[in-house]
Amino acid sequence: MEVLSIAQDESGKGPRFSLQARHHQGRFHHHAFAEYTGFIKKLKHFQDYKPPLAPPHVLSAALFLVLTILALKLTVVNKVFLILAVVISTALYFLLFSAPNSTIEPIKARYVVNCAGLGSDKIAKMVGDDSFYIKPRIGEYLLLNKNQGDKCNKILFPCPGKMGKGILVQKTLWGNLILGPTAADVNDPSTASRTTAEVMKIILKGCRGLIPSFDSGEIIHSFAGARAKSSRGDWIIEPCGTAPGFIHAAGIDSPGLAGSPAIAKEVVKLLKEAGLKCVSDLNFNPNRKPIIVPKNNWSIWRNGKKESIKINAQDKKMDPALHVVCRCEKVTEAEIVDSIHRSLPVDSTQAVRKRTRAGMGHCQGEYCECRVKKILARELGKGNS
Ligand SMILES: Cc1cc2nc3c(=O)[nH]c(=O)nc-3n(C[C@H](O)[C@H](O)[C@H](O)COP(=O)(O)OP(=O)(O)OC[C@H]3O[C@@H](n4cnc5c(N)ncnc54)[C@H](O)[C@@H]3O)c2cc1C
Repeated sequence: MEVLSIAQDESGKGPRFSLQARHHQGRFHHHAFAEYTGFIKKLKHFQDYKPPLAPPHVLSAALFLVLTILALKLTVVNKVFLILAVVISTALYFLLFSAPNSTIEPIKARYVVNCAGLGSDKIAKMVGDDSFYIKPRIGEYLLLNKNQGDKCNKILFPCPGKMGKGILVQKTLWGNLILGPTAADVNDPSTASRTTAEVMKIILKGCRGLIPSFDSGEIIHSFAGARAKSSRGDWIIEPCGTAPGFIHAAGIDSPGLAGSPAIAKEVVKLLKEAGLKCVSDLNFNPNRKPIIVPKNNWSIWRNGKKESIKINAQDKKMDPALHVVCRCEKVTEAEIVDSIHRSLPVDSTQAVRKRTRAGMGHCQGEYCECRVKKILARELGKGNS
């Protein structure tokens, strides 16, 4: 969901804010189609989709009518032209309007927390606050196979520099070696045009100074993200000056993740000060059932018994608890199904990946991603994409 605009109601009656949000429905099908054909991805509207002015079927019907009238005018009406008109209008309907399937949803709110990261300055501007802007600072990482994890059993930092804590070497919780991140301001012309090869060289050189012996041939993945650095040089956790009831938790760059519990407490305090009545939910259970069960070998324990897990080479019906869908991380079908139906449901392979690690291993999803997609389609009743 993307917030497009925010209007304030200053009458004092009812909710203070009316938000227009673009809600992407059916993105599951949409992504599946795009990934399989590699075609829709190339259309600009896939990225920058603006909802049509009229419902898709109305536009499609109008298009068909125009083509038919054109045919009559040209007095070349024949079956071929009419068939062409139907085919073209139907194809345009699917390509231009039906694929992203997004709708504009109005939302009323008495309080709004602006925690939109890189977009937090844009959201602030929607309520007339231009007291800060975001200067994205990009950071890239390289991830190495698990056979490199033991090169380092501590997090190794270099001396920090003016851009932050520097490029580090660490072993992940799952045993991989991870190198990075870099730090470069997106708008800095001296770094903006760096190629991937140059970035890799910078990371490898920086990390070799800390651990000389890792094997760069074991790199399996690279990541990049942009930190939301604010023009004020610090996190902005405060009530917005132009809209009562609007709280900023903006410009939260590193280490915002580590700081998040404290940030949440501060935001709750600010909301209370703005008038929100916070009542404790006595039924709230802060403990969640763990999802990811690390497996080092091809077995699980069930009801006190050790059982073998395996991949389903013959595509036969198998016990989901023993059926391995992601062979690198040994994630079973039962674990994937469980991750989909949690209290906060998910509908994408990326979300399942984050919950279960299916697709995070050596092959990076080459084997399992389509299988996870198939399970998602089955579990969510969205057809077999
Ligand atoms: C390379 C790198 C390394 C980092 N290292 C560390 C570290 O070691 N330790 C640490 O603690 N932190 C680290 N961080 C920082 C950490 O990731 C951030 O501080 C944290 O993610 C900020 O959380 P947030 O919720 O404010 O923003 P985000 O996590 O960016 O979330 C903002 C959300 O708002 C959404 N959004 C934006 N615009 C709109 C809109 N118009 N409508 C609706 N939604 C919108 C975005 O899609 C996004 O989901 C690192 C970040 C990077 C990039």
